[in-house]
Amino acid sequence: MDKRKALIILQDLLKIKSVNNHEAQVADYIKLQFDQYPAAQVTVVNYAPGRSNLVITIHGDQPGKTLGLSGHLDVVSPGDIGAWQHPPFAGEMDTENVYGRGASDMKGGLAALIYVLLDLLKQKRSFAGTIRLFATVGEETGNYGAAQLTRQGFADELDALIVAEPSQLQVEYTHRGVIDYELAATGKAAHSANPTAGNNAIDQLFRFNTAINELMAPKTQVDPVLGPLLHNVTQIAGGEQINSIPARARLYGNIRTTPLYPNQPLMAEIEDLVAQLNEQPENELQLTYHYPESPLPGNPQAPFVQLFRKVASNTLGHQVAAVGDGGATDASEFIRAAQKFPVVIFGPGNESGHQVDEYVAIKDYLAAITIYQQVILQFLR
Ligand SMILES: [Zn+2]
Repeated sequence: MDKRKALIILQDLLKIKSVNNHEAQVADYIKLQFDQYPAAQVTVVNYAPGRSNLVITIHGDQPGKTLGLSGHLDVVSPGDIGAWQHPPFAGEMDTENVYGRGASDMKGGLAALIYVLLDLLKQKRSFAGTIRLFATVGEETGNYGAAQLTRQGFADELDALIVAEPSQLQVEYTHRGVIDYELAATGKAAHSANPTAGNNAIDQLFRFNTAINELMAPKTQVDPVLGPLLHNVTQIAGGEQINSIPARARLYGNIRTTPLYPNQPLMAEIEDLVAQLNEQPENELQLTYHYPESPLPGNPQAPFVQLFRKVASNTLGHQVAAVGDGGATDASEFIRAAQKFPVVIFGPGNESGHQVDEYVAIKDYLAAITIYQQVILQFLR
């Protein structure tokens, strides 16, 4: 392995400020790396001005399965830059770590995938089937790059998918989904001395709150890895002043879904509940969602998961576990493709994502490269 080259790719990616947008600059950098190899088909899929997804397809010398690899191009805000010991967009490195916003989540994983594919092209490695790398926009704010690529059919032929999100080098095969919803209540203002002349919007939300808690209460099945379905009302606002009946109020809720209670049926139940409440003349409730993300069902015994565990265990010299996680990934969108396929989330990052002085350990980054390389070649043998 050319460790210097591998680290330069990561440092270069970290120097591009793709904070919740400007992904096109990262996509351009990656495209430039692959342009010198005619065997790599590079497709730029524009999302918005300055925001592009990238799809890189490489065919082997024989027909075979299709393996997807994915990483997102965006990073979250660095927050207070003064709090960072290592500047967030400098790609600083010491003997142990590479630092910067996205080092862990997830330019580390993405750079490792890029290095593996460039090396494969350079060495003209033989394999059967197709490798397809997805580099996406907007993962942190709603997975809409992955949604766009899935809608356009780029994921339809996949037989398996690797998502290079930080997993601390554990093999993650299942994760929770999320439903963020907003409920707006419209009432009628009146003097609080004459409340019957008005319609209290806050009372409408309380009625909804009672009803949704009743809807959720019997859903007690616990996913053995991910735990129970979680629902919390997380924000509430409303009213105009203390002696007026409130005409407007708004409530936000967050649901952490599991494969036992997937998004679509739950959303249908909530929509029915709101429709029922709205049949009463005193309620005028409007429900909207903010980028719901599906849970990822998975089977720890799936051959792809087992292959990953075997390769990772051999490389790292200890037994690597198959685990589940609370956070959603771009896989929530890719699994909506035409056919079903197993997904493994595996990456070199750690818990430092979204924090100051985010970093990735150099040894983890290099180990991820070795593991991706072997999994790709063994899966496409
Ligand atoms: Zn991420």
